[in-house]
Amino acid sequence: MRFVAVLLLSAIFSAGSAGAQPIGEADLLRHIEILASDKFEGREPGTTGENKTVNYIASQWSAAGLVSAGDEGSWYAPVSLVERTPEIYRLQVADSRSRQFVRVAQDEIILRSRDASFRKLDMPMVFAGYAGPDSGQGSVSIAGKLVFLPRNPPESAEELPDYRDRKLQLIREGAIGVIGIVADEWLWPRYRRSFERGTTMLAGPEQHAAVEGLMRYDQFRKLLLRSGRDAEKLLLTSGGIDLIDLDLQANAAVDTALRSYLSHNVIGKIAGSNPARGAILYLGHWDHFGICRTEDPKELERDRICNGAVDNASGISLLIETAARLAGQRPDRDIYFLATTAEEKGLLGARAFVRDPPVALDKFVVAFNADSVALSDNRKRIAVIGLGENELDRDIEIVAAQEGREIDRSGKADVYLERQDGYVFLERGIPAYMITSAFADEERVTAFINGPYHDVSDEVNDSLLLAGAAADADFHVALGRYFASTATYPGKASSGEPDN
Ligand SMILES: [Zn+2]
Repeated sequence: MRFVAVLLLSAIFSAGSAGAQPIGEADLLRHIEILASDKFEGREPGTTGENKTVNYIASQWSAAGLVSAGDEGSWYAPVSLVERTPEIYRLQVADSRSRQFVRVAQDEIILRSRDASFRKLDMPMVFAGYAGPDSGQGSVSIAGKLVFLPRNPPESAEELPDYRDRKLQLIREGAIGVIGIVADEWLWPRYRRSFERGTTMLAGPEQHAAVEGLMRYDQFRKLLLRSGRDAEKLLLTSGGIDLIDLDLQANAAVDTALRSYLSHNVIGKIAGSNPARGAILYLGHWDHFGICRTEDPKELERDRICNGAVDNASGISLLIETAARLAGQRPDRDIYFLATTAEEKGLLGARAFVRDPPVALDKFVVAFNADSVALSDNRKRIAVIGLGENELDRDIEIVAAQEGREIDRSGKADVYLERQDGYVFLERGIPAYMITSAFADEERVTAFINGPYHDVSDEVNDSLLLAGAAADADFHVALGRYFASTATYPGKASSGEPDN
């Protein structure tokens, strides 16, 4: 029954929009050329490149007929960021019996403090391993202790997938500090260098330990020997958290440079006639890396602007054209458009949005993220990142069938699920998808990731493929029509909200 109704309605919709031209490659290229131009300086948050970028997006959405939905009637929602860069860090460790403090060598550890300065003596040290079948889980308290937490398993260059969640849990439980143990010799210098350069975080209530850092596994193993323990036996890699008192104490002196600055999400809206039935959300990140660093002196003489044409001028371009096609109609639900900042720094703009949304977060029935869409000429195949995560898959399949798109079922694009802004919404229970031809083309994605990705060469040139992206933009328009209409998408069966 429902399927018949959908077909009828889709016939009405296609008749209604018969005059609308499909979105073309030139429509997308126009915005990409501007957003990824050297004038925009690589769109780094907190720079003049940001000002140009957020102004451009707001003016395009305004011209399309959206209304502003940021703070106090503006297009912008400020996002307060703090960059923490390690300056001085010293850690001395002693075992409980001898009380002979030994300093950990500077190249074996790196630490930063939450506040500008941190000094503490005699911190008890604890290891937060993965609980084996017969662990003493729960018997050790963590408050006021310095915790070691495995960040990657020995003999693997993969980060443990729950590292961040485990770290946050330890911080919530009162750990004074958390030090990630890096077992991989290839990862160690990379993690260390990136930590050394500074880490940007949301200001405000997000929880941080008083001190956080990284230590090389070999150093950790040596520390453990001082209390007669074998590190290898501790590094199990599955199960719940198992806390082990290490009979070690630490003295720490840590100074950190703090730089606070403001960036902005851009938020616009198409007002629905029945907002009580919820809203839908489109999002994509506007930020990129600005001027890229290099350790190669020859490279310093070249253009060092990371223009981010694919990542993510292309996604923003899709959102501008999608907004222009959907505006001027009166959907049932509100349709929000969000351009996020600081995605490249850890999905921070998206996290700021869910912390302080323009309407109650549970009003959003679905979110569609657009990121790095300009990688394929295939107008038919799409990857649906987020498939299998929630109850809307069937509806996505209906729209795909209606639009003649074929869903890639290989699951290969799923590795990107947690690396994109949509994940922040999934974490909060909001159905979120990233749907694009780009990630259905495994060869192209791999070539991009191993090539221009996060490099100065991600700029406007012949390697941009926009046919798939243009078809993706049309598909996003179709998704908007379907999910913003209470006729085609009545909402979750369980929600039971009355139609008013
Ligand atoms: Zn990126």
